[in-house]
Amino acid sequence: MSKILIVEDERAIVEILKFNLRKEGYDTVEALDGEAGLNLALTEDPDLILLDVMLPKMNGFDVCATLRAEGRAMPILMLTAREEEADKVFGLEAGADDYITKPFSMRELLARVKANIRRRSIDSGAAPSGAAIQAGPLSIDPIRYIVSKNGTPIDLTQKEFDLLKLLITERGQVFTREQLMEQVWNYDYYGDMRTVDVTVRRLREKIEDNPGAPEFILTRRGVGYYFAP
Ligand code: CA
Repeated sequence: MSKILIVEDERAIVEILKFNLRKEGYDTVEALDGEAGLNLALTEDPDLILLDVMLPKMNGFDVCATLRAEGRAMPILMLTAREEEADKVFGLEAGADDYITKPFSMRELLARVKANIRRRSIDSGAAPSGAAIQAGPLSIDPIRYIVSKNGTPIDLTQKEFDLLKLLITERGQVFTREQLMEQVWNYDYYGDMRTVDVTVRRLREKIEDNPGAPEFILTRRGVGYYFAP
C-alpha cells in the first residue's frame, strides 16, 4: 500500500485529504507544521508528499529543498495557495515535481497523486540489475534507479530520472513539452509546460559539465528536447 505524507496546517484540509486518500486505498501520515513534516518524511519514507507552502516553523519550499539535499527522491506535490507565478516556479526550483493550486478539486488532486506516484518495486535490493544504459560518462540503471557520471552517483528525483531515462532510451528523438508531460508525468491533459522546462534545467545542472552549454540534453528551438544522438 502506498503511503502518502500530508503536510498542511489547516486541519480541515488535512481531514478531507486523509479521508479521500484513504478511500482510494492509500495509507496516510500527517503533519501540521514544516518541521514535523520534514521529520516524518525522513523517518516514514513516504511514497509521495503533499506539501503546503505556507506552514508554521518551516515553509514548504525549505522542507522540499532540505529533502532533496538529503538525497530523498520521492515525488513532492506542492499545494500553493496563491495563483502567483513566482510561487509555482519557486516550488519547482526547490525540487518539487508538481504543484496544485488551492482551492483544488479533489478529483484533480487524486489524479495528480496517481500520476506522480510510482509503485515501489517489490524488493529493489534483490531485483536483478537491468542492463545499464551508457552515454559517454553517464550510466543509467533503469531497474535500480541509479544514475552515475564517471562512476560517481548522482541524486535525481523520480521525475528527473524518468525524464532522463525516456530521452536517453530514445536518443536523438525530439520530444515536445506536451509529449514529455504526457509520458513522464502521465497527464492525459495539458499541465503547465514550465514543469517540463524547470525539470530539464534541474537535470542539466546535475548531469552537465556546463549547464549553460549542455552536451547531453539539447534543445531543439521551437520544438522541444532531445538527448544528444
Ligand atoms: Ca498553510
